[in-house]
Amino acid sequence: MDSATLLALDRQHVWHPYAAADNPLPVYAVASARGSTLQLADGRVLIDGMSSWWSAIHGYNHPVLNAAVEHQLQSMAHVMFGGLTHGPAVQLATTLVELTPQPLQKVFLADSGSVAVEVAMKMALQYWQAQGHAGRRHFVSLCGGYHGDTFAAMSVCDPVTGMHHLFGDILAKQFFVPRPACRFGEPCTDDDIAPLRRLLAEHGKQVAGVILEPVVQGAGGMWFYSPEYLQQVRSLCDEHGVLLIADEIATGFGRSGKLFACEHAGIAPDILCLGKAMTGGYLTLAATLCTAQVASTLCSGEAGVLMHGPTFMGNPLACSVANASIGLLLSQDWQANVARIERQLRAGLQPAALLRGIAGVRVLGAIGVVELEQPVDMQRIQPMFVERGIWIRPFGKLVYAMPPFVISDEELQTLTSNMIHVLGDYLHD
Ligand SMILES: *Cc1c(COP(=O)(O)O)cnc(C)c1O
Repeated sequence: MDSATLLALDRQHVWHPYAAADNPLPVYAVASARGSTLQLADGRVLIDGMSSWWSAIHGYNHPVLNAAVEHQLQSMAHVMFGGLTHGPAVQLATTLVELTPQPLQKVFLADSGSVAVEVAMKMALQYWQAQGHAGRRHFVSLCGGYHGDTFAAMSVCDPVTGMHHLFGDILAKQFFVPRPACRFGEPCTDDDIAPLRRLLAEHGKQVAGVILEPVVQGAGGMWFYSPEYLQQVRSLCDEHGVLLIADEIATGFGRSGKLFACEHAGIAPDILCLGKAMTGGYLTLAATLCTAQVASTLCSGEAGVLMHGPTFMGNPLACSVANASIGLLLSQDWQANVARIERQLRAGLQPAALLRGIAGVRVLGAIGVVELEQPVDMQRIQPMFVERGIWIRPFGKLVYAMPPFVISDEELQTLTSNMIHVLGDYLHD
């Protein structure tokens, strides 16, 4: 199929994420991808600043990950997980338990991040149900949070950007507290934590769990907050006997400079969600981990089991590539590499702070964010990035990069300098 036909049929029949049916925004056909680059069907090569939404940490077409999938294909692509098990899933679960804080002992393999969040919330509800506290049916979440697109996940996303009003009472009612104003590296003040303290004092008995993205809020605002806030949340959860659910679907596997963002605060959640980078961006797979105590309590309830079981649970191809991706990450000095990317993003994006129309520039780990004063006009800015040979996908007021960890100094330099050029042209035209 030639590129023009492909794009015409795409426009006619294909939904894209958060897009109109007759998508007026440009889409670009990708023919192949290698390392930190995407090759478009029209021959142009773009340096990738997005890692396909946090996931492709080792870049594209990586020989080790390709080999893992090919090797697994020789024995089986898939087998049901009810009553059966297999090496790749057991190895993955064991590795995740080893890498995450000690209390987390049980692993549920889900098929996407949103499903992992559904499972986490279900675990918390069943945990309280089993103890005869069925009144604990609500969750506390942070404004500016993002936890996925299914209904339970949506109910804990930011109510404004998540357009909760569209769904009315179909959406479960949850509690929200403001996102912490204390930035990463700053102390957490009483003003930051007081809203959660008050809320739990007043409504604690209705709360099953607090769900948050530790330290880095992703798609809800690309906001980096003080690990001290997370420590205080952990203490308040303990005080009120509320479960803490850490959604590390975006932050997991090194992105924030620690293997898991909870490590910045030295805390352990009761339930942990992982996804995105777990397979190096090869296949869809996520995981929900919980403590032995949560697991045994919820199983002592009426159902006696966790009420969840997706058809493609523990898919062997996905588990194999996850094992290879985690192995590849841990076989390198990935901390030094993320620190290199962090330094370069900081130096490369700093000039944006001098432009008129910029509200701020912030960098943490391999994440660089430029916040504008006004939402960007995607119709206008998206082609400008492509013409400059880089793949950047802004949302709202945020223009940001989270490149694959394999990006070279030179590619990263090209990426950041072209981001600055585009922002300059965009803001001053
Ligand atoms: C992407 C994301 C999700 C949802 O994951 P999907 O795989 O897109 O369903 C949930 N939580 C966070 C923090 C995410 O970044």
